[in-house]
Amino acid sequence: MLRAFLLKLSESKLLAAWVTSNARTRRMAHRFVAGETLEEAVEAARACNDARMLVSLDYLGENVATVADAQRARDAYLEVFDRIARERIDANVSCKLTQLGLDLSVEFCEGLVNSVVERAAAHNNFLRIDMEGSLSTQRTIDLAKRVRSQRTAVGTVIQAYLYRSEGDVKDLLVYGCRIRLCKGAYKESSEIAYARKKDVDANYVRLMQLLLASGMYHGIATHDPRMIAETIRFAAAKRIAKNQFEFQMLYGIRTDLQRMLIRDGYRVRIYIPYGKDWFPYFMRRLAERPANVIFFLRQFFRRS
Ligand SMILES: Cc1cc2nc3c(=O)[nH]c(=O)nc-3n(C[C@H](O)[C@H](O)[C@H](O)COP(=O)(O)OP(=O)(O)OC[C@H]3O[C@@H](n4cnc5c(N)ncnc54)[C@H](O)[C@@H]3O)c2cc1C
Repeated sequence: MLRAFLLKLSESKLLAAWVTSNARTRRMAHRFVAGETLEEAVEAARACNDARMLVSLDYLGENVATVADAQRARDAYLEVFDRIARERIDANVSCKLTQLGLDLSVEFCEGLVNSVVERAAAHNNFLRIDMEGSLSTQRTIDLAKRVRSQRTAVGTVIQAYLYRSEGDVKDLLVYGCRIRLCKGAYKESSEIAYARKKDVDANYVRLMQLLLASGMYHGIATHDPRMIAETIRFAAAKRIAKNQFEFQMLYGIRTDLQRMLIRDGYRVRIYIPYGKDWFPYFMRRLAERPANVIFFLRQFFRRS
């Protein structure tokens, strides 16, 4: 119930305005968000690279309401790719389609995505299209397939909590699409998504096996030690080399596991979000783990 409540709150523009302008909550968000500027994101990326970790930079934003906002997001992504190349950081980029105008017009959004993927390709880099709530799933998959059939520098994300995901994985593999597998972070009804953790986990393992066995390079995104252990076990049993896939984790979460995997010779990519529009992302991280809420409430009410 707390998870559902926090995910509902994550959609509140009023709360977002208050939380993101409050100095104390802004400081607290730093646990999960590298900062509000590209400068800070680059610094965090460099620290990850120094620790032998790869990076995916995400310029935060979603559900834009105007063409101008979507174009601004496109420009920000073009700048990120140029900056990554200039700074020689080992990083790719993640974006959300509703930030690039998906809800305004699919054609318009696709135009912006194409220009970003073109820039990614020019730098020999890669754009990952994040997966959002289920209202966007089909449009995201269709758009990813269309863009992927023109250029290889794009991939997308599959959520293990959706019943439909096995079909989507098989469909995307036909297009040679590189996939990030995650459990799923949005509020979905039991008509379309597994509600129990044990069912989500079982599907995650099934999909992970499909991906690894495909012979393509995919991202296994999780902080769950059981999912990680299953992946390591499956890869070893099938003689899939450690450099034929990567683990992915979020900035600020389970840094112990991140270091352990690097030490054991696995590839680890850290998803580094930055930007002023961090509220929905921050709320999803709170929703994932009730202990985070208690921790942040304590921090908030503690007298300095
Ligand atoms: C790189 C990356 C990209 C992602 N991209 C997307 C996407 O495009 N679309 C989407 O819907 N979701 C995305 N997610 C989020 C994902 O769907 C899950 O909501 C999130 O990763 C938590 O699931 P888990 O696999 O870590 O397992 P869980 O079973 O939720 O957690 C396992 C353990 O991980 C730790 N943990 C997990 N979350 C937190 C947290 N917030 N704070 C502290 N500890 C935590 C805890 O120790 C927990 O016991 C992404 C996740 C990652 C790692």
